[in-house]
Amino acid sequence: MKLHRPSHILFGIIFFVGSYFAYSIYNASTIVLGIIIFIGIANIFYAFSDPKEDPPKSKHTQGKIFYEASKQYLKDSKEANAQENFKDQVIICPKCKVEEKLYNLAKRKSSQLMIYNENKPRIRAKDGLHIFPMICFNCKTFSEFASDPNDTSGKSINGIEYFKSQKLNKKHISDALSYVKKNNNKMLIQKLNTL
Ligand SMILES: [Zn+2]
Repeated sequence: MKLHRPSHILFGIIFFVGSYFAYSIYNASTIVLGIIIFIGIANIFYAFSDPKEDPPKSKHTQGKIFYEASKQYLKDSKEANAQENFKDQVIICPKCKVEEKLYNLAKRKSSQLMIYNENKPRIRAKDGLHIFPMICFNCKTFSEFASDPNDTSGKSINGIEYFKSQKLNKKHISDALSYVKKNNNKMLIQKLNTL
């Protein structure tokens, strides 16, 4: 066996190192790791293959197609993971403990909780934490919450930290109303109007 394309030994090693980082930093799935390692092995084999036996040149090099395909795959699986996590994310009312899934929360008529002002959270001065308001239709309270997936506060419940609850007042309702009116969510407008 003769080494015809030494640079591909290097590519192979790069893919092996890449698979290690994909595993340790990005928690890549087994399929993604399998593909990256396969590309690494393919490069090593390619390094020893005789250029004379190559098929006629296509306008895309094989490496580029593999690169594009694995890039797309990584992107898709990352997005799928994020969506999966979001689907399972639940939010609870810190007062009455009623629980709702965040997924489609604003579209479900039966939702006991609503969140609003996602686009303009209250920002805590000391650390810049984004704090969002929520309303519980079940116990008619106003509460606040912030995302805390790593439980840095030591108080997070399923990745969310909750702050004080208080009885709903007119200002909470009118703030929430102006938000749902902007989004033209008729169902929530009606629910807020019955509070
Ligand atoms: Zn409640």
